[in-house]
Amino acid sequence: MNQNLRIRETKDHGRYCVAVRKLPKKTEIITGHPYSFGITRMASRKTCAWSLENFETPLQEGCPHCKEVWYENKSARMKGFRWHHLECKTFQAIHKTNYNASYKLLFKTIARAIILKALESGLNPKSSGIPVSKSQQAWLEEEAMPVWLSPEVTWKSFEGLVSNKEALSKRQYGERLKLAEKILKMLAPAVVEFAFKGIPDPMDYLAECICRYECNCFGYFNPKTGNQIGSAIIPEISFINHSCAPNAKVTYYYIGGAITVEATSDIPREGEVNISYCDERKGRKTRQEYLFKYYHFHCQCPKCQSQAKGK
Ligand SMILES: [Zn+2]
Ligand SMILES: [Zn+2]
Repeated sequence: MNQNLRIRETKDHGRYCVAVRKLPKKTEIITGHPYSFGITRMASRKTCAWSLENFETPLQEGCPHCKEVWYENKSARMKGFRWHHLECKTFQAIHKTNYNASYKLLFKTIARAIILKALESGLNPKSSGIPVSKSQQAWLEEEAMPVWLSPEVTWKSFEGLVSNKEALSKRQYGERLKLAEKILKMLAPAVVEFAFKGIPDPMDYLAECICRYECNCFGYFNPKTGNQIGSAIIPEISFINHSCAPNAKVTYYYIGGAITVEATSDIPREGEVNISYCDERKGRKTRQEYLFKYYHFHCQCPKCQSQAKGK
């Protein structure tokens, strides 16, 4: 993976990450770049969708159609349009749904991932067939794509992550199928055409992607309120498993930006590296329920096992 980590796989323990060498406390173990991410409507008001820089005061240059993306200046808005026009109608539709903020983050992040898949499959953003006005047509000529697009992470790296689909009941999987159907309706036809070329059952395929998102996504949180303000798919660090007694934690500087995993205690060579997907200060039952609901697994970390025995 990198100079600090290796992926191991055993029948009992599944896939996990171990330290290649001793990693002293505070070591920056690995940095992962999002394949795709979503930002809440409120947080996007102070985040430049082009540079991802955060601002103290609300930005003034936004997309007038969806009001979901904002830019630090007009030039950033023009450059950003070449990407944004692919998602604008979808974002408008997502905003109009009755789903709560975390579902809207799921929709936005998955929609962006599907748009990226369509681009990887040959969709040309300059001639996608998505209607734009005459003045906007010139904006499509702007050369660059947003800074957050990372060439190292591709759809394949997202597709390689576990979905834990088999842990869900028929009814629970049925709920994901419904979400998939909703997303398919909200995406631009050109995006759907390219992204699902050769896929016999797009709805089922997308439902599994939703499961994959659910058990692998990372959250961005407001440091003051603790509220979630964004979520991201970061395949490079998704192989780091959860433990309720972790030896590493994640940090980031920008919403939607790269996430770094840092050692919170000394990790010996060959020791498993773990981060926590939940609030590990909560009781065992609360943690177990949370982890199953959101990540579809039953935690069997040493802390959960010893607390189960102690009961
Ligand atoms: Zn828009
Ligand atoms: Zn646990």
